[in-house]
Amino acid sequence: MARKPEYAGPWRRIRQQILTRDHHTCQIRLPGCTTHATQVDHIIPTSQGGAWWDGNNLRASCAHCNNQRIDRTNTNRWQTKGPPITLIHGPNAHHNHQHAHELAQPGYLIIDHTALVTALEGNLDPKGRYPEVYISAAGIARNALLAAVRKAEIEGRGILLTSTNPDAPTLFPYHQQIVVDHGPDVVFAQLEEEGKTGTHPAVRAARRWYAQQPTRPETEGGGGSGLSRSW
Ligand SMILES: [Zn+2]
Repeated sequence: MARKPEYAGPWRRIRQQILTRDHHTCQIRLPGCTTHATQVDHIIPTSQGGAWWDGNNLRASCAHCNNQRIDRTNTNRWQTKGPPITLIHGPNAHHNHQHAHELAQPGYLIIDHTALVTALEGNLDPKGRYPEVYISAAGIARNALLAAVRKAEIEGRGILLTSTNPDAPTLFPYHQQIVVDHGPDVVFAQLEEEGKTGTHPAVRAARRWYAQQPTRPETEGGGGSGLSRSW
């Protein structure tokens, strides 16, 4: 690929910022990923109107994944084809899932990791955790669904995608996003009610969410249905 002038100057600094933000870890994770990020990828290519400098549109990538992506323009079909995608993200998986169900109408697809784990009939272990095999299997199913969503292979009226990852907006395709955050008090109380305490992954995810809040940019307007944050 020819080097564009935009890649000179400030790009070097932004590139470094993104690599540091993402801990030099590849955020794409295609098969064959080396995980060690040395490049920065535009999630929505600039040729398709993606923002050049916006951190929300940038992610660290290993050379392998970045090269794979360059020719995969069909993975961006979701932007112009297929149903509208709503990203529902917040620190508590239960709240996210609940919100998705409130929004869902006939013909909507909800892509929710916990629901996939449950659908695989994963039983909780004595500590109230799902065994790793169900979590990883649900992750595979979710990634397969996401790949189909990106290619606009899933028909339907709408797609509701949930995530507790604070970086969700940089990782997932979406047309509008909704932040579901009832505030740390409610979130941690809910987790405790579910028996999730200490180093439970859900608790760690919520902590990670709040740890990252101060540096998160404001959410975009999207469809205007975003919840305001209560903190
Ligand atoms: Zn990679």
